[in-house]
Amino acid sequence: MEKLIMLKYGELSTKKDNIGLFLKKLKDNITRILTEEEKVYFDKGRMFIESPNIDNTIKKVSKVFGIHELVMAYKIDTDYDNLKETVKSLVSELNFKTFKVVTKRSDKTYPKTSMEISKEIGGVVLKNVPNIKVDVNNPEITINIEIRSNATYIYMESIKGLGGYPVGTMGKGLLMLSGGIDSPVSGYLAMKRGIKLECIYFESPPHTSLEAKEKVLSLARILKTYNIDMKVHIINLTKIQEAIYKNIPHEYLITILRRMMYRISAIVASKSNCKVLINGESIGQVASQTLTSMSAINEVVNIPVIRPVACFDKLEIIELAKKINTYETSILPFEDCCTIFVPQHPVINPTKEKCLEYEELIPYKELIYEAVKTHEVINIKDENKYEDLL
Ligand code: ATP
Ligand code: MG
Repeated sequence: MEKLIMLKYGELSTKKDNIGLFLKKLKDNITRILTEEEKVYFDKGRMFIESPNIDNTIKKVSKVFGIHELVMAYKIDTDYDNLKETVKSLVSELNFKTFKVVTKRSDKTYPKTSMEISKEIGGVVLKNVPNIKVDVNNPEITINIEIRSNATYIYMESIKGLGGYPVGTMGKGLLMLSGGIDSPVSGYLAMKRGIKLECIYFESPPHTSLEAKEKVLSLARILKTYNIDMKVHIINLTKIQEAIYKNIPHEYLITILRRMMYRISAIVASKSNCKVLINGESIGQVASQTLTSMSAINEVVNIPVIRPVACFDKLEIIELAKKINTYETSILPFEDCCTIFVPQHPVINPTKEKCLEYEELIPYKELIYEAVKTHEVINIKDENKYEDLL
């Protein structure tokens, strides 16, 4: 009897024609986090992982998007007596009062029907474990049996995967990653839909510190757990921010600054083959996130902008940030370039005309060109071993 991990795909199985592409990506993404002793392979439409340390492997693989359920299965030769003996020995080690047996038979040449097998194996269990009964509606344990021509699988335990699509199946997106709570959560949700991330971070040294940058890199490292590798583009906004501060009416500071961020992000995205921008804007959260503000800011780019947490309230975002382990880092108290030079009364309903008029007051095209040309790229690919992040 061999113990292995069997994967169930969930939503992926709705991809009829191109399911092969999705599964290949899933397998590649899993392979990249396995060690040499661990092996992932397809067998008749299912994916399996063999490992000398199943628990450890499950912990790692449960963070790969595209898996609905990770099942700890026992594999035996397809032979009825063997099946009975194995179930008998497996249940004897368990403590339960109610159970049911569910059988699937993909080998239709097998001499018994699924119903017959469930009933007979149920009888074997009842005979061998004292004081238990069958409960088909709400059993403490479910004994699943899958009979295939080359092998039979028995499983009782599984854990839920993260679902979604394998990262990379939808191409790449550029996440505007600040040190706050919202943008890492947005990045996580985008990856869940199969988008591979690159990140862009805007800093304004010396007004923003090295610690603030380190904090963003720590967040990128946590997100890398789901993304395999991670490129972070760091843009120096100091000159642009100072030019805005000196020349533009202060109520428009944030609106214009964010238009510059969007313009720069769109250029970096196009150079890096990222098809969308992703950010942590949430409707109504701050002055720059009213619908009028968002529209005045968004109009400077053509690339689609995805805002995964746009309709979440802050408590929902925090809950997810805690779940994905970014919260504790996000609340570290370092300033962001959006939090310095903050005007007392930022405009809530900026007009596009005013934005254009004010932007004429600074040589923003040259400044943007320079910021993009001199930007730093940090590749977090091989910095940490995957295990360090668990
Ligand atoms: P967060 O909690 O993610 O920082 P926030 O509520 O503080 O969001 P803003 O500061 O207005 O909101 O920023 C909105 C979004 O703009 C952020 O979620 C992020 O995607 C992007 N953003 C803001 N500041 C930066 C920055 N310095 N570098 C990169 N992206 C940024
Ligand atoms: Mg912020």
